[in-house]
Amino acid sequence: MNQLAEIIWQRLTGLMPGELKKTELPWLATPFQQLSLLTSRRATMIVNRVRLFAFLFAVLTPMWILVDFLVFKPPLWWQLALMRLGASAAFTCLVLFYRPRGNLLDAYRAMALLFAIPTLFYIASYSVLGSHELTGLSAAVSSGYAFLPFVLLAGLSIFPLTLIENLILASPILIAQLVAAALRWPHLDLPAFLGTFWLLVLITGVSALAGMSQLAFMIALVRQATRDPLTGMFSRNSGEEMLELQLILANRSGAPLAVAFIDLDHFKSINDQYGHEAGDKVLIIMTRHIQACLRRGDMLTRWGGEEFLLIMPNTDLEQAIQALERLREHGLGLRPDGAPVTASIGVAERMGDATEDWRALVELADHRMYYAKQNGRNQVCASLPAGHDPLAHG
Ligand code: GH3
Ligand code: MG
Ligand code: MG
Repeated sequence: MNQLAEIIWQRLTGLMPGELKKTELPWLATPFQQLSLLTSRRATMIVNRVRLFAFLFAVLTPMWILVDFLVFKPPLWWQLALMRLGASAAFTCLVLFYRPRGNLLDAYRAMALLFAIPTLFYIASYSVLGSHELTGLSAAVSSGYAFLPFVLLAGLSIFPLTLIENLILASPILIAQLVAAALRWPHLDLPAFLGTFWLLVLITGVSALAGMSQLAFMIALVRQATRDPLTGMFSRNSGEEMLELQLILANRSGAPLAVAFIDLDHFKSINDQYGHEAGDKVLIIMTRHIQACLRRGDMLTRWGGEEFLLIMPNTDLEQAIQALERLREHGLGLRPDGAPVTASIGVAERMGDATEDWRALVELADHRMYYAKQNGRNQVCASLPAGHDPLAHG
């Protein structure tokens, strides 16, 4: 029995996107706990796609006025034409006034607006068409209006969305479909409606899968682009980007933000005595040790060869020092000769050091790291003694 469950479970996990690591899989389900860098890139991509979609609809929606004019009698055709012009104007506003800002809530709003416009248009046109007795060609054209929800739900597939986001975005369209059916209730062809509705649900499922596979690709690409290949830690570029973002957030919310500059002691001698590969191994093991001590939300960046920058959001100076002392006690691994690997660490904190600029914050931490080196290595330095000129060592 247990074996069967195991086999089924293995088969199921085999269906998961292979490009993702285990820890990244939950990111496909909900937007919470996603990497801030992924979130901001995803938000930018979503808003850009919204604008592309809106542009397409702004151009295509009014074109159909000609068809309406040819097949429907007044006032029906011009009622529909007014609705089309209104929808087109709304789409145009979306293209003109929405700009990506890397903020996920902002991206949600853009998508909600994009989908609200045709949904309203759909409900309005459906109720207008429903109040007319149509035959022949005009009946055929009027049934074309019923395809709009299909287009919308298929359109969901162009966004890199999580499962929950897909469901939340699709539900108003499905609900609108139910409302439109209720409006026509006495004349509703129930089996036909159920068939249509089932098809919409299927399209929603396919679109959600398409969106989630885009997201999976994006997660894998962002990881490859942002990680240092040797240690798997964040690369310097992405570290700078994250630090800038975190500092903006911390400045806005008034939260503390600490950074620690970590430089290994006498690292060069490992290379010199045991070779570069032995040095590489020490670096990898050392990052494992640091990671084991990190809090959720802390980010370790490989700043240079054997220099690392640890970004600690929501951490004041005292907490940061505590965490780093704990790290020093825990140890950073062993050198090839069996001696412990040690590091000199400089810490700076946004509020305590009254710094709003990330470069200045890193520079402060760097100076303090230099001071820790001069002062005998293997220690944490959180402030320079009075009269000490950091520039003399920078
Ligand atoms: P200190 O205690 O003053 O920091 O001495 P140190 O030897 O650690 O400092 P130094 O800056 O003189 O040397 C850093 C060395 O790190 C030099 C370089 O060869 C080595 N290094 C940089 N990147 C890598 C790497 O990716 N792999 C290996 N194995 N060594 C590296
Ligand atoms: Mg160094
Ligand atoms: Mg060093």
